[in-house]
Amino acid sequence: MPRAPRIAIIGGGIGGLAAALALERRGAETIVCEQAPTLSEIGAGLNLTPNAIKALRALGVEDRVNAIASLSNFLNIRSWKSGRYISRTRRGDFKEKFGAPNLSVHRADLLGVLAGALKTTDIRTGRRAVAVEGRQHNAVARFADGSEIEADIVVGADGIHSAVRKSLFGAGADAPRFTGCICWRGMAPADAVPRDIAIDDGALWMGPHGHVVHYPVRRGELLNIVAHFDSDAWTEESWTRECDVSEVTTTYAGWNSQLTRLYPCSTRWYKWALYDRDPLEHWSVGRATLLGDSAHAMLPYLGQGAAQAIEDACVLAAMVAKFSDDLDAALAAYERIRAPRAKAAVLGSRARAKENHLASPWARLKRDVKIALRERFGGGGPKRDNTAFQVGWLYEYDVGKEMG
Ligand SMILES: Cc1cc2nc3c(=O)[nH]c(=O)nc-3n(C[C@H](O)[C@H](O)[C@H](O)COP(=O)(O)OP(=O)(O)OC[C@H]3O[C@@H](n4cnc5c(N)ncnc54)[C@H](O)[C@@H]3O)c2cc1C
Repeated sequence: MPRAPRIAIIGGGIGGLAAALALERRGAETIVCEQAPTLSEIGAGLNLTPNAIKALRALGVEDRVNAIASLSNFLNIRSWKSGRYISRTRRGDFKEKFGAPNLSVHRADLLGVLAGALKTTDIRTGRRAVAVEGRQHNAVARFADGSEIEADIVVGADGIHSAVRKSLFGAGADAPRFTGCICWRGMAPADAVPRDIAIDDGALWMGPHGHVVHYPVRRGELLNIVAHFDSDAWTEESWTRECDVSEVTTTYAGWNSQLTRLYPCSTRWYKWALYDRDPLEHWSVGRATLLGDSAHAMLPYLGQGAAQAIEDACVLAAMVAKFSDDLDAALAAYERIRAPRAKAAVLGSRARAKENHLASPWARLKRDVKIALRERFGGGGPKRDNTAFQVGWLYEYDVGKEMG
């Protein structure tokens, strides 16, 4: 019997653990090397669109995700000052329409589900990769402590500031451009949230130069809030930089009081500058490849970063199983299947960035009318896509069905 392929995954985040789970379910021997001393996640929310839920279904963890997730029946798009409802997209029928619901989770809870489902993966924490070499018949990862791991394939799932990407493609491959937008995130306990906020619905407030999203996580115990605004007052990309709530209240002074009263309900606020990156031309060198943000970091406007990472994981594992006697072909097929879709998500997110922050009242009115009409009558295409931003093409994909 041929031996199982040995796959080393650098990074124990959402993409890395999803890859480990997908690969071990297909019979591979998997090792995850995570730089942090424990597997952990930032205290933020994650919106999981139907395609992400179908990918989690393919990993066999849909029920466990349901147990920790919140289901919003509506996505309410609202106007910044008056609070007027621009549209109320019914998410309750996404299951029927796209084959899975839209759920939101706490990132740490999702990581816990993925970690808890792993059976045979060897997890090594406190291992920071500094270089990866993709060779003709194997790949080697080198770590800050001087150790090395040789495997049939090394997968760089080490996130937006990927050391693996840099090692394989050079520092020039990562050319982040500051978007001129700053984000703040907070998390409010549900019982602190004013009663006039429909905590069970997802909301998107759009105004001049900014937008704010909030949705429930941890089965409605917490409200996740993310606020975006055009500004160059901060340029650091870290996701863990704490700041004072006054920055948020000052930035959104003049916005609807239903929204501004939410901000002090979170005791902690974090901020980061948003950077954009062009899609990579290639993901693999020899037997080393990339997955998730390291391959296709994207702006957050379509809520697809984690979704695309989990889809990558399913496809990589399926290709490794299909071409188990030719792993070069497996990596080529992985990239061929995944790169176009991931690139479309990167570019689609970039396009949305402009529309969310329109400054001209006339342009905003035109946009709002378009959104309202789409919600009511459906957009173009045979399925009359009635999602506010015409993202049915992303949601309808079922990686489990595609990969068999
Ligand atoms: C606040 C916020 C909200 C978001 N909301 C959404 C959303 O609603 N929907 C959505 O789909 N996406 C969302 N995203 C994007 C999504 O979280 C990312 O796209 C996703 O986490 C990518 O997963 P990943 O595994 O590629 O990277 P990460 O989750 O960043 O994981 C990378 C892992 O690699 C480890 N690592 C890094 N360098 C090394 C190294 N040298 N050696 C070893 N380990 C290393 C890190 O410690 C980390 O554990 C959001 C992101 C943020 C920050």
